[in-house]
Amino acid sequence: MSQPDPDDLTADHGPREECGVFGAWAPGEEVAKLTYYGLYALQHRGQEAAGISVSDGSQIVVYKDLGLVSQVFDEQVLCSLNGHVAVGHCRYSTTGGGNWQNAQPTFCTTDTGSGITLAHNGNLVNTAELADHARDLGLFRKDAATTDSGVLSALLAHAATDKGVEGAAQELFPTVRGAFSLVFSDENTLYAARDPHGVRPLVLGRLERGWVVASETAALDIVGASFVREVEPGELLAIDASGLRSSRFANPEPKGCVFEYVYLARPDTTISGRSVHATRVDIGRRLAEEHPADGDVVIPVPESGTPAAIGYAQASGIPYGSGLVKNAYVGRTFIEPSQTIRQLGIRLKLNPLREVIRGKRLIVVDDSIVRGNTQRALVRMLREAGAVEVHVRIASPPVRWPCFYGIDFASRAELIGNGLDNEGIRRSIGADSLGYVSLEELIAASEQPRSRLCAACFDGEYPIAIPEDELIGKHVLEGLDPDVADQGSSPAATQQGYGAHDAVQRP
Ligand code: SF4
Repeated sequence: MSQPDPDDLTADHGPREECGVFGAWAPGEEVAKLTYYGLYALQHRGQEAAGISVSDGSQIVVYKDLGLVSQVFDEQVLCSLNGHVAVGHCRYSTTGGGNWQNAQPTFCTTDTGSGITLAHNGNLVNTAELADHARDLGLFRKDAATTDSGVLSALLAHAATDKGVEGAAQELFPTVRGAFSLVFSDENTLYAARDPHGVRPLVLGRLERGWVVASETAALDIVGASFVREVEPGELLAIDASGLRSSRFANPEPKGCVFEYVYLARPDTTISGRSVHATRVDIGRRLAEEHPADGDVVIPVPESGTPAAIGYAQASGIPYGSGLVKNAYVGRTFIEPSQTIRQLGIRLKLNPLREVIRGKRLIVVDDSIVRGNTQRALVRMLREAGAVEVHVRIASPPVRWPCFYGIDFASRAELIGNGLDNEGIRRSIGADSLGYVSLEELIAASEQPRSRLCAACFDGEYPIAIPEDELIGKHVLEGLDPDVADQGSSPAATQQGYGAHDAVQRP
C-alpha cells in the first residue's frame, strides 16, 4: 500500500460531521419544502447524500441521492412530494460506505404492509450485535443499506407489526447502545427520539400549523419555527392529529458532545441554553489567557476559527484581522481534483491576503488539529506570503482519541495529537509557538457541568462502553464481505444489508 502524500490536502480533512436530521408534521404546509430548507440549514453536518420522505396519510414516498441538498432536490421533485409528514436527512457516512443504498431516510415495511422511514444522526456501538439479531429474524436482504441506521429501521419495522411503532420503539431503543438522535415516521405520525446520553443534539420547534424536529436550533430559525425545547435524552416523542405525546424509554444520563461547541454545530445554534458563537468567543478569550503571544495581528482560520480569534483579540488587545480568504464553495464537488489542482494543496481552500500578512508576527487561531497536514501547509503558506512569525493557537485540546459516536476524525494512529507531544506537534507543523486551550477552560466556556459532557476524543474517557475492535468501525457490516466495502459509490454495487426500497424513488 502506498504511503499517503503529506502534502496532498485533498485527503486531509478536519473532523467530519455525521449527519443532520429534520422532521415536520404540519397539515396544510408544504412539508417537503419545509424539510428542504431545514436540511439546507443543516448542510454543514453532512454533504455526501440527502433525502426526504413524505407521507400523505396512506403512502410514504422517499426521494434521496448522493450530493448536496441543493444538488439532489429541485422545484419539480419537491412539488411531487405531497403530504403532511416529512423526514429529512443529510449524510456524511460514519457507518457504511458513501453509496446510494446507504443514503437516508431509510424505508422499511412492517408485515402488515405499513411503512416506516427513519433518519439517524450519531453512531451506534453495538451495531454488530443488533445486526446478528436482525439476521436471526430473517431481516437480512440483498441490495439494502449496510448502516447501523438500516439495521435499526429493519428491527423497528419488524417489532412494529405486533406492537405498533411506539411500542416497538419502547422495546427496541433500550437495547440500542451508542449515539442516536432519530426522526422517523409512519404514514401518519412523526416520531423523534434521543439516546439516553443525548450525545447528539435534537430540538423541537413549533409552527403555527404544526411541529418540526431538527438537529440544531438554526434549522428551526430558517423555517420560522419557534424553539420549544430539546428532545430529552431517553425520550420518545410522537406527533400526530392527537397532539404531542412524550414517553421515556430510558433514564437520562446526559453526555452531550463538547465538540459540537468547538466545531460541529453552526455558530447561530444554541445547545443546552448556551450559544455556540458565544462559547467559541469565550474559548478564544480563555486561550489568550492560557497561551499569550507577542504578535501584531490575530487572524482566524475561517470559518470555524473566527469566533475564537475574535475572543483572543479581545482578551489580548492585539488587533483582529482577516488574513485568509476561504473558498466557500469548494466543498465536496464530487469532481476528483486533477494533479495540478491537487498540488495547489491548501490554496484550494484558503488564500492568503498578503497586504495583511507581510512583515507581521501572526497569531493564527484554528478550531482543532486532527492530522496536522493542513496546519503545516498553512504555516508554510503564511511564511511564503511574508509573515515573520507564525504563532498557532487552537480552540480545543489536542485530539488524541477517535470518536465512536458519530464524528469521523481519523484512526488513532493518524491523529497527530496521539503520537507527538505539543513541542513535537509545533515542530511538525513548523510554527514559532503552539498553544491549545485546556479541557477545563473549554468546558468552562460551554457553561455545562463536566459530568453532563462527553470529551472522550480529548481525554479517552468514553461514556458509552466501546466493544472490541473487530466489532466496530465504519464498515462493520460491510466487513461481512470485503468486496462490498470497496464498492464506494458505484451505482451498480450489489450489497447485502437491511431495509427495503419498495417506496423509494431512484433518480
Ligand atoms: S468523542 Fe469527541 S467528538 Fe465524539 S461525541 Fe465525544 S466529545 Fe464529541
